Amino acid sequence: MDTFNKIIGHEDIKRYFNKAIKSEKVSHSYIFEGPEGVGKKSIAQAVAKSLLCQGEDKPCGKCRACLLLEAGNHPDLIYVEKDNKTTKIDTVREKLVKNMDVKPYQGPYKIIVVTEADTLTIEGQNAMLKTIEEPPSYGIVILITQNLAKLLPTIKSRCIHLRFSPLPYQDILEYLAPYQLSERQTEIYAQFAEGSIGIAKKLIEDERFLEDRKKGVDLLLKLQKADLMNMYDLVKVICDEKEFISSMLHFWLLWYRDLAVLKATGNENLYYLDYQFHLLDMSSKLTYNTIDKHIKLIKNAQTQINQNIYATFVIENLLLKLKEKKK
Ligand SMILES: [Zn+2]
Repeated sequence: MDTFNKIIGHEDIKRYFNKAIKSEKVSHSYIFEGPEGVGKKSIAQAVAKSLLCQGEDKPCGKCRACLLLEAGNHPDLIYVEKDNKTTKIDTVREKLVKNMDVKPYQGPYKIIVVTEADTLTIEGQNAMLKTIEEPPSYGIVILITQNLAKLLPTIKSRCIHLRFSPLPYQDILEYLAPYQLSERQTEIYAQFAEGSIGIAKKLIEDERFLEDRKKGVDLLLKLQKADLMNMYDLVKVICDEKEFISSMLHFWLLWYRDLAVLKATGNENLYYLDYQFHLLDMSSKLTYNTIDKHIKLIKNAQTQINQNIYATFVIENLLLKLKEKKK
């Protein structure tokens, strides 16, 4: 059993670890950098499994170590999770520094994975510096992050940096294949997953996704036809359902992104292939500059909503401006 083979994509990284593990040349500290849900944690888990397995054909999936790992109970694999919004210095000291000082209980390695290293405070990073600089012979630290810029140069320079790219469209299709989806649905999920299996999984589990996507488009199409009176009705409809506003703006943004793509290159990789007629109609009526301006307006509204600015004010303003420049 080879757990690396079960992970979709990232052939280079899998090949690197297969080789490093066989030749016992695994480094002491790594940074796994890449977008959400592409397999960083899965690879970390597979590395740990291959290193800690006590069977013949590693990872065997049958030995005590493998069973403990599968149950999430192996004492020599430790995950450091963020506290609330950040990973604090006390957590780093308690879970990473102290644990690393204690020899492994069972295997030849102790592996500590920081799951959201971009949330580490500066103090937290400084606290782990010595562990990364002078690791014990059995110690391996893996820092998982979506944003490399959040790590101190002193940390970065001491780690092997492995970059996880978004997965190709084909890989996402491969992941979606076992689900009972129509061809159209498969296309929609694959496109909205943005190269991330984690996101694809979330979308499939989100029973409202397809419905919400349709609702977002319906509102936008209504806005196109609305006069001033109707527009204020729309503001009310949208603001009556505050939880939906963020998703709606995201759906709108991708809609305008489709318009821009259609204008520039044709109908490649559209998020709204099922609305091609509406997209073509709308893109023919808008200039490239207007589309670009509208994208900025929607992004601006997203920022304002995130800053908790009064929703009715934000939406009213946005709708007025989206209407205003219609040419
Ligand atoms: Zn095993």
